[in-house]
Amino acid sequence: MTPTAIAFLGLGNMGGPMAANLVRAGYRVMGFDPSEDACAAAREAGIGIAPAHEAVAQAAVVVTMLPSGRHLLSALTDMLPHLSPGSLLVDCSTIDVDSARAAHALATEGGHLGLDAPVSGGVGGARAATLTFMVGGSGAALERGRPVLEAMGQRIVHCGAGGAGQAAKICNNMLLGISMIGVAEAFVLAERLGLSHQALFDVASTSSGQCWSLTSYCPVPGPVPTSPANDGYRPGFAAALMLKDLRLAADAATATGSPTPLGAAAERLYAAFVAAGEGGTDFSGIVRHLRDDGVTE
Ligand code: NAD
Repeated sequence: MTPTAIAFLGLGNMGGPMAANLVRAGYRVMGFDPSEDACAAAREAGIGIAPAHEAVAQAAVVVTMLPSGRHLLSALTDMLPHLSPGSLLVDCSTIDVDSARAAHALATEGGHLGLDAPVSGGVGGARAATLTFMVGGSGAALERGRPVLEAMGQRIVHCGAGGAGQAAKICNNMLLGISMIGVAEAFVLAERLGLSHQALFDVASTSSGQCWSLTSYCPVPGPVPTSPANDGYRPGFAAALMLKDLRLAADAATATGSPTPLGAAAERLYAAFVAAGEGGTDFSGIVRHLRDDGVTE
């Protein structure tokens, strides 16, 4: 039987390894990316390279992994006339909820099915096919897309109708940014009180201060040996991407009139961290910024 043909647009740090996992799972994958380097790496992984309109014309499923909602809507508008009837469009980028809903509307008007399926798990999860997908769209669209998502990830959560996946991603990452700053502040205060990192960790990790930013991704070296703090704050999840997600959360909060004072403070702190040249540093490195009194509040 001919394997399902998939078009994959956006073969960058995330999309490249995700598309490679589709090839490994037996799919025939045609991809496109304006970056020559991304195309060269994709070819090595067995992905065919073609102009976007050619790649999507042959595909039953189109996966996109792009920088922003603007990129997605422009790519969608270009590809729509070339799609086979009844295609499934799966967008895995992290974008604003309004653009995600607009993409669903474009897909539906064109007679296609759509899913917004942003991910958590980062580049490591993309390589290891252990991503979590937060999915918005109809049950029918998800059932059709499930085998494709399963080839790239480990966990699929159906969050609701179109846009719900992006809403979940934005809310989760705003919470993550806030909690990381909270944990980092606690360590800096502990340092100045003469309390060791390990002592604070031993108490907070088994007490009411417990959270993922502390127990899985501890921002100081020592207590969690696998955290980026033990590796010079090499990402992981870069501060520039955290800032992008906090800005999406701030825009969503403004659009819905939602009070998110801590989300806004987290956005300001990460903006200052990135402006200090730390955009490529892991987001847990914010502890250094706090410790150095690089606080702009
Ligand atoms: P990236 O910049 O490495 O990749 C994006 C790719 O899209 C680039 O190679 C770019 O050339 C390509 N592109 C731009 N316009 C295009 C078009 N019209 N058609 C085809 N390709 C096009 O970024 P990334 O780290 O792979 O992130 C991709 C998305 O995943 C972003 O929305 C990001 O927020 C999200 N994300 C990233 C991570 C991470 O850890 N890197 C984690 C979760 C989510």
